[in-house]
Amino acid sequence: MIILKTAKELDIMKESGKICSRALKEAGKAVEPGVSTEKIDEVVRKYLKSQGATSSSLGYSGFPKNCCISVNNEVIHGIPSADRIIKSGDIVSIDICSKFKGYHTDNAYTFECGDVSENAKNLLKATKESLFEGIKVAKAGNRIGDIGHAVESYVKAHGYSVVRDFVGHGVGVELHEDPSVPNYGLQGHGPRLMPGMTIAIEPMINEGSGKVSVLKDEWTVCTLDGKLSAHFEHTVAITPNGPVILTDPS
Ligand code: MG
Repeated sequence: MIILKTAKELDIMKESGKICSRALKEAGKAVEPGVSTEKIDEVVRKYLKSQGATSSSLGYSGFPKNCCISVNNEVIHGIPSADRIIKSGDIVSIDICSKFKGYHTDNAYTFECGDVSENAKNLLKATKESLFEGIKVAKAGNRIGDIGHAVESYVKAHGYSVVRDFVGHGVGVELHEDPSVPNYGLQGHGPRLMPGMTIAIEPMINEGSGKVSVLKDEWTVCTLDGKLSAHFEHTVAITPNGPVILTDPS
């Protein structure tokens, strides 16, 4: 069931999204050679707490940390750890979901650590741009398939692949609501976008094949071919005046 939000609820989600996106900004500032992913998680925990928000990841199906941090060939759901030290040249995907005044918001960004390769830079650029291609068509009257089609055709043109095993989702009252928001799709297909819908659009884009596997920790999703992956995400509201990014730190 798709949960449509009232204007008042969207205002609260905007507040929630501001906190979530500022937490992501703070986490990004902590990305530097020699830092552990656990230390970045601690930055997230402290920031959310200082704002009266809570992590939606902590305890979700038993997830032990406040955010997901996935490095290089890791796609999503990496578990922050004291043993995982970031080094120059790494790309670091940080995914934060948080709850404020009863409403969840969700966003992700892949940060560069030190000097990264040209290949990595290009992947990050195309992935970030594909998110905005998706957002552009997230308009009332369009369909979910239009978003996936926009994302996939954009990254395909750059020689990259979308991950099909994991998808974006509705978000708000619950962390994961209907509808699913795949990063692939057919134009004019899928549920119709309506004012009041709030969705997390989140391209997970691989340098090589889109195939992935899950590590023994039962969380971390990696590329099957060991090549790089990037992840950018915003929580977006569908409004009569077009898409509004709720995870806006400004
Ligand atoms: Mg999400």
